[in-house]
Amino acid sequence: MGEGRDLSVSVGRPTQASVDLEALRANLEAVQRLAGFARVLAVVKADAYGHGAVSASRTFVAAGAWGLAVSLVEEGLELRAAGIDAPIVVLGGVYPGLEELVVQHRLSPVVWEVEHIRRLAAAVKRTAGPPVPVHLKIDTGMSRLGLLPTELSAWLDVLSAEAGESLPLEGVMTHFACADVEGDTFTAEQVARFEACLSLLRERSVEPGLRHACNSAGIVTAPRAHLDMVRPGLALYGVSPAAHLQFPGIRPSMTMESRIAGIRRLEAGAGVSYGHRTVLEAPAVLGIVPVGYEDGYMRSMSGSAQVIVAGRRCRVMGNVTMDTTMVDLTDLYREGTEVNVGAPVTLLGCQGSERVTAAEWAEWAGVIPWEVLCGISKRVPRR
Ligand SMILES: *Cc1c(COP(=O)(O)O)cnc(C)c1O
Repeated sequence: MGEGRDLSVSVGRPTQASVDLEALRANLEAVQRLAGFARVLAVVKADAYGHGAVSASRTFVAAGAWGLAVSLVEEGLELRAAGIDAPIVVLGGVYPGLEELVVQHRLSPVVWEVEHIRRLAAAVKRTAGPPVPVHLKIDTGMSRLGLLPTELSAWLDVLSAEAGESLPLEGVMTHFACADVEGDTFTAEQVARFEACLSLLRERSVEPGLRHACNSAGIVTAPRAHLDMVRPGLALYGVSPAAHLQFPGIRPSMTMESRIAGIRRLEAGAGVSYGHRTVLEAPAVLGIVPVGYEDGYMRSMSGSAQVIVAGRRCRVMGNVTMDTTMVDLTDLYREGTEVNVGAPVTLLGCQGSERVTAAEWAEWAGVIPWEVLCGISKRVPRR
């Protein structure tokens, strides 16, 4: 600094991801429009799906999110340490030993076992802290976390007997298993089961607080379940959970770019990368790109992945390695376009009129788009 060096010109390894905070803001608003009057609990677990939890959270709250949802207490603490004051729901529950931090930092844990109530109520008492708002999770068919509808009545008995005023219900929730599956009919069944649980709460004069069920897919496929609040993750990052689901107004918020680090002209017969996965049938020009599976550029995309160089899609050649990937520039050269060392390579996002999407990465790698975004590693600097 202060020596006239232009910090906008990157030095060092050029592989970077950019997070478009303006896109995050616009996506929150687009999802809010789809959700109507329901509040938005913005899901920022897993470092905001790889976008950087603190900046993404600030953006979502400023754009009108009611609160933030994380998976772990530790993720909630990161947001509090950054001065974020909005409600933070801890979706994954509270592991033993972390209860006092939950009280102290005003986190709102999701609870479903009697054990959770006992540990949290004890922590409130021990610390003489403020009440801990909790969200009760009901398993209506995901078969993962949550109490079963048949256990609800007994659980409420324990809550009123043991928690008293110390654990007010801030919400009651469930989670969909199949909302992104084309032709799904199971979500309607889950909604019906959840509604039956809500009726039981009414019969027992238990105020449920905020009722919430919808993940991104559910917001589109189960409007009846918008209830008081929705819990979008993926759609906030501009990616639809499935090709048949439309989210008007969202756009991808993450791009990943690198630069050509070397050019290699090879004769027919040359083998490329580990295991000589590709053996050239004709002379070729390869671009060496400093990105690899350690960055989240998955090895399983070898053979199908494409990048954009000079506005044109180019195929990845041979196996992706830990730090380096080779791309085929032969067609560009044949068309008379020379590519220099330092030329931009778009791995994810737009260049010219071409776009590579997270959905494409997922298809190439045989994974889901969630894994693509979360998989872009911490080694890749975020701009
Ligand atoms: C991750 C998660 C979400 C968000 O899911 P998306 O499909 O990314 O919208 C919502 N609710 C719960 C409980 C989750 O774990």
